[in-house]
Amino acid sequence: MAEFNAYITKARIDGADDGPLAGKTVAVKDNISTEGVETTCGSKMLEGYVPPYDATVVERLKAAGATINGKANMDEFGMGTTTETSHFGATLNPADTDRVPGGSSGGSAAAVAAGEADLALGSDTGGSVRAPAAFCGVVGIKPTYGLVSRYGLVAYANSLEQIGPIAQTVEEAAGLLDVIAGSDPRDATTVEAGDDSNYAAAADGDVEGMTIGVPEELLDGADEGVVETFWDAIEDLEAQGAEYVEVSMPSVEKAVAAYYVIAMSEASSNLARFDGTRYGLNAVEAGDYDDLSEAGNWNEAFATAREEGFGPEVKRRILLGTFALSAGYHDRYYGKAQDARAWIKQDFDESLQAADVLASPTMPVPPFELGEGLEDPRTMYLADANTVPVNLADLPAISVPAGEADGLPVGLQFIGPKYGEETIVRAASALE
Ligand code: GLN
Repeated sequence: MAEFNAYITKARIDGADDGPLAGKTVAVKDNISTEGVETTCGSKMLEGYVPPYDATVVERLKAAGATINGKANMDEFGMGTTTETSHFGATLNPADTDRVPGGSSGGSAAAVAAGEADLALGSDTGGSVRAPAAFCGVVGIKPTYGLVSRYGLVAYANSLEQIGPIAQTVEEAAGLLDVIAGSDPRDATTVEAGDDSNYAAAADGDVEGMTIGVPEELLDGADEGVVETFWDAIEDLEAQGAEYVEVSMPSVEKAVAAYYVIAMSEASSNLARFDGTRYGLNAVEAGDYDDLSEAGNWNEAFATAREEGFGPEVKRRILLGTFALSAGYHDRYYGKAQDARAWIKQDFDESLQAADVLASPTMPVPPFELGEGLEDPRTMYLADANTVPVNLADLPAISVPAGEADGLPVGLQFIGPKYGEETIVRAASALE
């Protein structure tokens, strides 16, 4: 095992001879398809699966001259906040190897933090770019929904997720976003807003006259050291000419519950394709049979492949998502979660009338010790309290290092209006 176990597969995929990323190495999360290079999603189900095509973002990295140096470790199918649900073992946090790097894009953030890659791509369904960026002390951006193509991203919960950049600095993360952003005919949810972007140029540190709204609800229950570091950063911004206002968002109290119902529901449907017939672990391998006829009827064969191929967290979510969507329960769970999603969007709209950007701690807690969270999934889910509202509202957000608490990295999150990537990049760059 390499020092931090940041990669599932080490590979070298060369890009064009020149371009904005020439000479740069990029770690790509292992749920993003790479032609000819194994793509596992951190799952035994896809061990050995080699995609026949590149994701759009991978094509764009190559065209920009980047060298992809491997596929980064991740929680299985993106389901987790620590990278410990990976079938390929946990990734260690380079800032403290007894701690988790955050997740689910923990390998991507650890690779950048450790200097094993200059840049990285992660995916963020409910915080999976921002959480590991915060825990590892690097920068991560979750773009506005539709800004970056999801073609070739293996879906977990497709109404919530975006691929996003991770880097050591705000300017580099924004520059990587410039490369991957923009409309794509192969993903009908993409928009033109990012087509001729220059987000990197917005990293000018100029917050003079900027209004920063702090939703009090996103500080409730956060760790003391994290809150102190957060306020120090806000004071720093005030000293640079920004103005701070308090805002209230009562709806965020429902965000974690709504997020998990929606994410698990979508996951139960998206992961139905893994039955071992087209790709992935098949029933013969899973059940150690000589041929398919021994594996029983199709139902038994699918069940054998899924029983062996998926880990416990993935199974838990498929079961809960299937339950939430089952006949008679739709209005009780999925319908209510969609109502909460609409309420959260409305709260953000109002708050972003009162302020140019919103700020909160990215994570309410410092990085967990390895093994600490796996026992109680609910504790783990609650750590997503500040990141999931952003995905439910389709908004952009960035996590930037704000200092340390007890010697561990603390990330500050800026949330912007739709397509407000320049504003959050500008605000974050003022903290560097
Ligand atoms: N921790 C969240 C979850 O497990 C977020 C994951 C993600 O953004 N992929 O769903």
